[in-house]
Amino acid sequence: MEPPKVEKFSTADRGNGLRALAPLRPGELLFRSDPLAYTVSKGSRGVVCDRCLLGKEKLMRCSQCRVAKYCGAKCQKKAWPDHKRECKCLKSCKPRYPPDSVRLLGRVVVKLMEETPSESEKLYSFYDLESNINKLTEDKKEGLRQLAVTFQLYIREEIQDVSQLPPSFDIFEAFAKV
Ligand SMILES: [Zn+2]
Ligand SMILES: [Zn+2]
Repeated sequence: MEPPKVEKFSTADRGNGLRALAPLRPGELLFRSDPLAYTVSKGSRGVVCDRCLLGKEKLMRCSQCRVAKYCGAKCQKKAWPDHKRECKCLKSCKPRYPPDSVRLLGRVVVKLMEETPSESEKLYSFYDLESNINKLTEDKKEGLRQLAVTFQLYIREEIQDVSQLPPSFDIFEAFAKV
């Protein structure tokens, strides 16, 4: 693999960032990676494919959870490694559907627990993101606390207690990042 063209840096008061290691040409590709995690939003659910996000009139439904929908068998198959664990969670909380951020964080957790870190994690990890918790209002914090509770209920089919989460993973802080 080519050496990276960007590096991570942190500042005392303005957070972290990525900077170029050499002068750049306009339009030069710096880095390409699949996202660590993504999910369709509530409004697009059932309208676009869960994996490639393309809209299609007739989507195929996951026969297990009946929530995830795909444009075809190929996408469904490719999506399975990322969907496998959330599939059980989605199924267990039916007929309710989790808030988008809860489903998304579930996918983040599954990814962070994989043995081989994704390309994006190697460069700029989820753990490097600033949560800015101390800048949040009490209202906002309360909202995140509620999401953290909802998340624990959602994920309990796969993760029964916090010790099974990745080390140094804090649910409340993770929601502030998401
Ligand atoms: Zn698709
Ligand atoms: Zn499913």
